[in-house]
Formats: sequence, structure tokens, C-alpha cells
Amino acid sequence: EIEIKGLHKSFGDNHVLRGIDLEIGQGEVVCVIGPSGSGKSTLLRCVNLLEEPSQGQVVVGGTEVTDPDVDIDAVRRRIGMVFQQFNLFPHLTVTENLTLPQRRVLRRGKAEAARVAAENLQRVGLAEKADAYPSSLSGGQQQRVAIARALAMGPEVMLFDEPTSALDPELVGDVLAVMRMLAQEGMTMMVVTHEMTFAREVADRVVFMDGGVVVEDGAPGQVIAHPRHERTRHFLSRLL
Ligand code: ATP
Ligand code: MG
Repeated sequence: EIEIKGLHKSFGDNHVLRGIDLEIGQGEVVCVIGPSGSGKSTLLRCVNLLEEPSQGQVVVGGTEVTDPDVDIDAVRRRIGMVFQQFNLFPHLTVTENLTLPQRRVLRRGKAEAARVAAENLQRVGLAEKADAYPSSLSGGQQQRVAIARALAMGPEVMLFDEPTSALDPELVGDVLAVMRMLAQEGMTMMVVTHEMTFAREVADRVVFMDGGVVVEDGAPGQVIAHPRHERTRHFLSRLL
């Protein structure tokens, strides 16, 4: 479903991604771990073209997104992204946050957008917050709204960049529970996270990145419990 081949990305003379090869099958959940600055966010941002790759190929659901003639907006519609900061519109209610992009980008009518919004708020357990403003919600609730907003666009794949890193510890569980539900429903997911319990229990594969390359890629029981590489061991020992 996501194929990354020979991906390089440089910012000026900072060569950040140095040849990434990664395949994520339909319905697969891949957690990406690695030290700060290793290029995890840049990798995710290259998948939905928030950053333009310097070299290499990215294919999502059979469409080569790195093809210069590709319709970038059409590609982005198929890829949901959730960031560390929730980026909700503060002046809009929860429902309006979910309906606006559907109406603007997908040209859905008012009633349909509202129906899809309600459906997805239900999915993340926030139906009762439909008319609330983001500022009245906890960080965990805001992040679940951000997930619902992405889901309302009907994406084929979901990218998560440290979705729980900005949350108070007691709010992390509710967000991870929603992500776990999505994984069980068969969503294809790429998740940058430091939540090792989530990675161990939910991921099909764990990818360890360092210095812009994939150092290790395998089942969680292998990469987390029995890392083959010293760099992976060193990273994990500092984390646990
Ligand atoms: P963290 O765990 O801290 O989020 P990361 O693995 O996500 O780190 P990236 O954010 O991908 O790392 O950054 C990798 C490198 O690319 C860093 O050296 C960073 O300074 C650089 N970089 C990222 N985005 C840009 C940008 N828009 N312009 C210039 N340099 C950038
Ligand atoms: Mg990052």
C-alpha cells in the first residue's frame, strides 16, 4: 500500500534521508522509532509530499506520488496525517472542524459532511463534544478530534507523527486506544512513536531509523526484544 524506494531528502547540504527503502502492506501497522534528528518526521512528510523528496520513489495505493505530474491534492486526500500538535481551528466547534475540510476539499454537501462528522466523532468516543470548542477540551480529546477529522476524509492510509508526545501522561491511553481500534479495523498506518508498549502490542513491524537510514526492520518481538544492531540496543536502553 505504501512503497518507498531509494528515498533521499536533503535540506541544503544537510543530507537527512540517505536512501530509505520501506514497504508497508495494506492493513499493516508500522511503528518508526529512532533518535531525535534521525529523519522520522521528514520520512512521513515525504510520503504525503509536505516535503519534496530529493531523490527516489514513493507509491501510495498504486499511485506514484513522486511523479512530477501527480495531482498533489488528490494524493493528500488519500493520506490522513496526525501531528504532535493537534492543529484544530480554535474558532470552530468540533463538528465544524470536521465538516470544513470535507466541504472545501471533497466538496461534500452540508448534510453529508455533518453525517460523516458525527459518525467519526462517535468512533473516537467524542459524540457528546460535537458542539464544544477545542479550548474546552483536554489535549487527549483534542488529539482524538484531530484523528476524527483525518478519518472523515476517508483516507486509505494514516500517518501519525508522535501523536501522544505533547500529552499529559494520563491522557495518552485514550489516544492510543483509538489508534489501536483503527489498527484492528485494518487501517494501514505508519506511526512515529516512543510508546514502546503500543509498538510491541499493535505494530506488525517496527522500523529503527538512525542517521537517515533504516538500521533495523522487523517484528516488534525481534527489533524491540532482540535487536540485532548495537545502535538499536543503545537507543532502546536509553528509552526503557
Ligand atoms: P525528532 O525525534 O526530534 O522529531 P526526527 O527524527 O523527526 O526528530 P526530523 O524532524 O525529520 O527528525 O529532522 C531531521 C533533520 O532534518 C534535522 O537535522 C532537522 O534539522 C532537519 N530538518 C527537518 N525539517 C527541515 C526543514 N524544513 N528545513 C531544514 N531542515 C530540516
Ligand atoms: Mg520528528
